[in-house]
Amino acid sequence: MKKGKKKILFVASEADPFIKTGGLADVAGSLPQALIEEGHDVRLVIPQYRQIPKKYKDRMESVCHFRTKLAWRDTYLGVNKLVEDGVPVYFIDNQYYFDRDSIYENEDKHEQFAFFSQAVLDMLPVIGFKPDVIHANDWQTGPLPLLFADRYRQQSYYQDIKTVFTIHNLRYQGQFAGHASGDVLGVAPHHWASGNIRHNGLLNYMKSGIMYADHITTVSESYANEIQTSYFGEGLDYALRLRADDLSGILNGISYDKFDPETNKNLAVRFSKGEIDKKIANKVHIQQKMGLEVNGDKPLIGFISRLVEQKGLDLVKAVFDEIMETGAQFLILGTGQREYEEFFKAKQLEYPDNLSVNIKYDAQLADQIYAGSDMFLMPSRFEPCGLSQLISFRYGTIPVVRETGGLNDTVVAYNEETGEGTGFSFANYNAHDMLHTIERAVSFYNKKGIWNKLVNRVMNLDYSWHNSAQKYSELYRHLTGDEEQRLLQKGDESEVQIKIYEPDVKPKSEVKVKKNKASKKISINQAEAVELAELPGIGDAYAERIVNYREQNGDFTKKSDLTKVKGIGKKKYQKISKLLTL
Ligand code: ADP
Repeated sequence: MKKGKKKILFVASEADPFIKTGGLADVAGSLPQALIEEGHDVRLVIPQYRQIPKKYKDRMESVCHFRTKLAWRDTYLGVNKLVEDGVPVYFIDNQYYFDRDSIYENEDKHEQFAFFSQAVLDMLPVIGFKPDVIHANDWQTGPLPLLFADRYRQQSYYQDIKTVFTIHNLRYQGQFAGHASGDVLGVAPHHWASGNIRHNGLLNYMKSGIMYADHITTVSESYANEIQTSYFGEGLDYALRLRADDLSGILNGISYDKFDPETNKNLAVRFSKGEIDKKIANKVHIQQKMGLEVNGDKPLIGFISRLVEQKGLDLVKAVFDEIMETGAQFLILGTGQREYEEFFKAKQLEYPDNLSVNIKYDAQLADQIYAGSDMFLMPSRFEPCGLSQLISFRYGTIPVVRETGGLNDTVVAYNEETGEGTGFSFANYNAHDMLHTIERAVSFYNKKGIWNKLVNRVMNLDYSWHNSAQKYSELYRHLTGDEEQRLLQKGDESEVQIKIYEPDVKPKSEVKVKKNKASKKISINQAEAVELAELPGIGDAYAERIVNYREQNGDFTKKSDLTKVKGIGKKKYQKISKLLTL
């Protein structure tokens, strides 16, 4: 394998299209492919649940099976495999653990996922794939870095392997009675005694991953910072602060092939950028299908989510009637806490023409809602990354979001002074702030010139995996130490994070610079940071980064390499490149 190209084993408890309960499945189902496109040899491993559709089971081939020990238990471990969209996928087979009615709601889930984590490590010498990096995800795989540190790293076969642990949602930690650390995981008592795997007197799988992985990532830069505070830290902020040097945020992407308005067969009418009429045809279709008043001019707000407190549903409840008074229609798809399901079902009776409540999981309907809605509401209390706003962008649907986590990093609030922005947002977790933001969005919906511009703009955004996959590549290379890559320690400030404030009124100093510009451009290979900082749109922070980049990577060979500098995306580059020369 070429230098810089790594062997990666991506380990997750769910992955689209095999099994999905939430965003983790989207990530595990699309990031490996993007990493393969970066040139890595990437394999995915998930449990072989009963719920995986037969059409996939029929395609699986047996790789191996043997018996292994889970603490004192003698258990069967089978490994099956298929290749999906170019990604080799291994399935850990053990009927006792995974042939169940539910994938997560089992009394012995600590044992199920201890088995899964250990099985992944045990299968490696047998399946003929030795990864450079094992990339584990969320609490279900939290035991993996712990087991690795406890008894695998010491063996010569495993010693060079590095572990990465990604937190997709810190709220779900996997907390169990302490005796399981010996009884199920079979790890040495000092891990418990040191507090590394213990939180509030319970064995904590999430904390195990955090404390023992070589590097921890989470799914947006904002969330990486937020979870180190007590408000967002879910009790583990101190552990994350301890590991702050090894923690970074890398924004999720989405599959631009799967969520493609031009080709998605689930849509009533497929459409491309600029075809706003066809988008409206999707709205009319979904209005008809859901029994709403059919009117292409009415704003339609979509909401597709797990119906849980995290998603801001108490705000929606608090001002529900006022939301309906804005004249918008509301289309809800989701399942979750009974309190919310019951509330929306009751409201449906009050607003039969303008509210459609669908308490179910339905991927096809979800696509139709993304495509047919004008706005997509996400008033989350916290949101590690959030995928729905990215899917909405793809379908020309404008997100209305609370500024937290990944929502903060991806949605730029519409600014009527400058005309900039990609959505509508509010900062405080407050029902009336949310309501005013919805009202504002509806008022702009009625200004067709502005709205259509917004729709076209968001359809042109690029939240595919490409940018993020490059950041993971950089991380893998850094960890395995074959390149002196500078790790983006605190995260992901690529072009996707376009929330950079650039004052409209130019500072006086710029007048001078403009004159300079006419006579002489500034050289990115020679200029000091202070000279670069003078230029409009650069400022101190970017000037520093450009100079640091140059110091670490040598002179720029072409101007467009500026986009490799942290935080300088295509847009920013276009703005500043005119002022610069090599
Ligand atoms: P989370 O992982 O917290 O649930 P994300 O926004 O990261 O939230 O991802 C949620 C994913 O699940 C999105 O792809 C969304 O469209 C999908 N989804 C959520 N609820 C449903 C549902 N009831 N039917 C279909 N898709 C759903």
